[in-house]
Amino acid sequence: MQKLTHTLLVLTLFLQFSCNQKDPDQQSKRPNIVFIMSDDHAYQAISAYDNRLIETPNIDRIAKMGILFTNASVTNSICAPSRATILTGKHSHINGKVDNHFPFDTTNVTFPQLLHEAGYQTAMFGKLHFGNNPKGFDQFKILPGQGAYYNPDFITKEEGTVRVEGYVTDIITDMTLDWLENDRKEDQPFLLMYLHKAPHREWLMAERHVEDFTRRTFPEPPTLFDDYAGRGRPAREAEMNLLTDMHWAGDSKIYPEVMDELGIEGTSSWDKEAFDREVGRMNETQRAKWDAAYRVINEEFKKAYPSMTPEEQMKWRYQRYMQDYLGTIQSVDENVGRVLDYLDENGLMENTIIVYTSDQGFYLGEHGWYDKRFVYNESFKTPLLMAWPGKTPQGIRSDALVQNLDFAQTFLEAAQLTPPADMQGQSLMPFLTGTGEDWQRDAVYYHYYEYPSIHMVKRHYAIITKEYKLVHYYFDTDEWELIDRKNDPHELKNVYEDPAYSEIRKTLHEKLDALREKYGDNSQISQQYIDEYLDFLEERRGYAGAKDTTLVNKIFQNRNRN
Ligand code: CA
Repeated sequence: MQKLTHTLLVLTLFLQFSCNQKDPDQQSKRPNIVFIMSDDHAYQAISAYDNRLIETPNIDRIAKMGILFTNASVTNSICAPSRATILTGKHSHINGKVDNHFPFDTTNVTFPQLLHEAGYQTAMFGKLHFGNNPKGFDQFKILPGQGAYYNPDFITKEEGTVRVEGYVTDIITDMTLDWLENDRKEDQPFLLMYLHKAPHREWLMAERHVEDFTRRTFPEPPTLFDDYAGRGRPAREAEMNLLTDMHWAGDSKIYPEVMDELGIEGTSSWDKEAFDREVGRMNETQRAKWDAAYRVINEEFKKAYPSMTPEEQMKWRYQRYMQDYLGTIQSVDENVGRVLDYLDENGLMENTIIVYTSDQGFYLGEHGWYDKRFVYNESFKTPLLMAWPGKTPQGIRSDALVQNLDFAQTFLEAAQLTPPADMQGQSLMPFLTGTGEDWQRDAVYYHYYEYPSIHMVKRHYAIITKEYKLVHYYFDTDEWELIDRKNDPHELKNVYEDPAYSEIRKTLHEKLDALREKYGDNSQISQQYIDEYLDFLEERRGYAGAKDTTLVNKIFQNRNRN
């Protein structure tokens, strides 16, 4: 009996000991998370995907250490809604952040709040664009709204709004490194959200890249002169064309006085204003360096413009666009390199999940466009590179249908937490700890809302598989589009009415219905968001940036008639 008691005591002590030991052990194993996101970074502008435009050796390092997703996508291709989906793990119609106009509903539960409650140290630096401050963060310094490239303001947790002299991408990185070096607690795992404004419009590169990038020329995409003949009204009526919709001053950096001299009208009422707002923030030294290159461009343009054909103008604007857009990416890549070096040099690589992504993709002249919003590949897809060094097999490529919807559950699982049952994604951990071979998803759901608005991309929802896209454009139109992704990689032809596709069309319709059911979306919810949005526009007596007000006027006439 005594022996048994003794044995039990030893066993109890042993169990107690091992239980006590288990917790700190498990705790220390929970990985850090470094979530790097840029704004509007097209996968075409990351050399791990495509090196025709630019080399991004630092961003590519993440793919070398881990996995490159070639079919990663967003659920709604626009800034703030994408961020809301990332933080909540829910589609826009559930988290309520369907467009850029209304502020984010902060009663939503976000993954950083859950990580924070579970003992993670949390910090966010850079662009959020929510109309309110992030919850669940020990530290944050964020740009107000879209933020500025030069001498930007930051909303800070402790010091209110401050203006910082310098270039935005460098400053966000300085803040991030400063936090890692001075505020990070060694005894806690951390979540670091490092969020760039670049390469968002109006694409002002750092002074150090101006001379180089304004002299480069880039290959044109095959669909630069798309006439939209194979598709319907949505593609034709969008206001995203490089020639007709891009700002001459604000985007192409033609000085307002040069526009006046040449008799060029702005492509919108705020064309010149956008230039003055952004370039006007530079100090004398920054402006001098910038002018040294852009004055030359303006002088050359003055001579060339009078004899330029529309086709030549289009080609000129494409080069101008790429020089500035890719120039901003050069600094993103350099600065990502600084952060990766820091992690490396401080022994943090091994237990840190590193993610590089964008809030959506972007058109770099494909279909003659810039901007995003559509479910066509360049904006529907987004770059995604992930690594958990030491755990993730190196150099993997995956064409799995992963989405920004999946991040929240991935990070919660990494932190050994059970995600709330109403999150709608699927953890990507199988890819981080293996090759993800068994990870399954055969279709994803997409829904874009912001219309009528700037760029005039009609409301649409879609089902996307690896082979097809079935899209419904609704509201002031009722058009279906079926794209054969394998046979029409540039997405130029709607085959919805083609009898050869009638079986596929039927199957996709059924799958789309099932997917809408699964995610809880339907036409009543869409109508609620329409009503709310039109009320908002009526109150503002404005059309939120539409260039052609005829369509918008028609919408309101119909509304008042009903
Ligand atoms: Ca964006």
